[in-house]
Amino acid sequence: MYDYLIVGAGLYGAVFAQKAKEQGKKVLVIDKRDNIAGNVYTEKIEGINVHKYGAHIFHTNNKEVWDYVNRFAVFNRFTNSPVANYKGELFSLPFNMYTFNKMWGVVTPEEAAAKIEEQRKEITGEPRNLEEQAISLVGRDIYEKLIKGYTEKQWGRDCKELPSFIIKRLPVRLTFDNNYFNALYQGIPVGGYTKMVENMLEGIEVRLGVDYLENKDELDKLAQKVVYTGAIDAYFDYKLGTLEYRSVRFENELLDIPNFQGNAAVNYTDRETPWTRIIEHKWFEFGKDENGNDIPKTVISREYSSEWKPGDEPYYPVNDEKNGALYEEYRKLAENEKNIIFGGRLGEYKYYDMDAVIASALEKFKNV
Ligand code: UDP
Repeated sequence: MYDYLIVGAGLYGAVFAQKAKEQGKKVLVIDKRDNIAGNVYTEKIEGINVHKYGAHIFHTNNKEVWDYVNRFAVFNRFTNSPVANYKGELFSLPFNMYTFNKMWGVVTPEEAAAKIEEQRKEITGEPRNLEEQAISLVGRDIYEKLIKGYTEKQWGRDCKELPSFIIKRLPVRLTFDNNYFNALYQGIPVGGYTKMVENMLEGIEVRLGVDYLENKDELDKLAQKVVYTGAIDAYFDYKLGTLEYRSVRFENELLDIPNFQGNAAVNYTDRETPWTRIIEHKWFEFGKDENGNDIPKTVISREYSSEWKPGDEPYYPVNDEKNGALYEEYRKLAENEKNIIFGGRLGEYKYYDMDAVIASALEKFKNV
């Protein structure tokens, strides 16, 4: 008999499993995929750690989480500085003095602030949606060129129908600072995320290619408690209806050139380009292989966003009012289930960053 059956070998499951094992618990981790690490999974291609389920850049202000992950990997000094491509014009992200200079020709922070102030005036009162929030943060010009198209492609919804908190993730700065994140600690685990998760799961039994929901009765018998990190609506067989998710499709290409775009991430912020961004994976580790040699080839991934339908991988919960209300109903059902914990982006239907998922798993373990 196991103390815990952990469904899902992504970050939430791996952290919970690691803590439980450390405390002497007997743990079994299963995953329906053939690989561990969930959506942070990386695969080595031509010496490059390819982020197979999209770019993951670790960043946090939480010292406990930072110390924790550093037990399982060495983190490099990668700093995320995406470039926005709007119809061939390039802008620095997040919104900062480089962006404002390129957009308006302003030179000083005072001039930039005045320009933003002038444009944000069109929003009076508390912003009611993403569009209003964006304009009130950075003005209409930046909204039109750098936010609107990208956001509508990513979410498949009009910016007026999206919650404003999504855009609050992005910093706005009157300094020349292209660091996308406001985080004290940031980096990419050297050797890839898969290795890091492998280290977390060391000494823990893992069974891959096992679908929990299809073998639930049998699997439940194996453990005292279940930690479920799959989609909460799937667990209840969608009986109250389906929650909406956004899915992502990647077109990966191996190119026989050393440098495709000169940066890890380029966002295509116009509406017409069908992909949202292109990731060039080698730049997460500065174009070097594990021996410090320049890698002659490159792998790029074009990222296409789509509405999730059964059978697709769910990536982003759509945290609008309608889905929030439905999730609340599922959460109530979950509370009445015995001996099971729902956790992670899918289990809690929450747009969690990696550090928040880890913090949440650590916290949950402390409380059980
Ligand atoms: N966003 C944008 N333009 C960009 C990048 C981001 O408007 O060039 C907005 C967009 O609404 C997006 C949100 O910021 O949904 C969060 O973007 P982030 O890159 O943090 O999302 P993730 O990396 O989780 O996909």
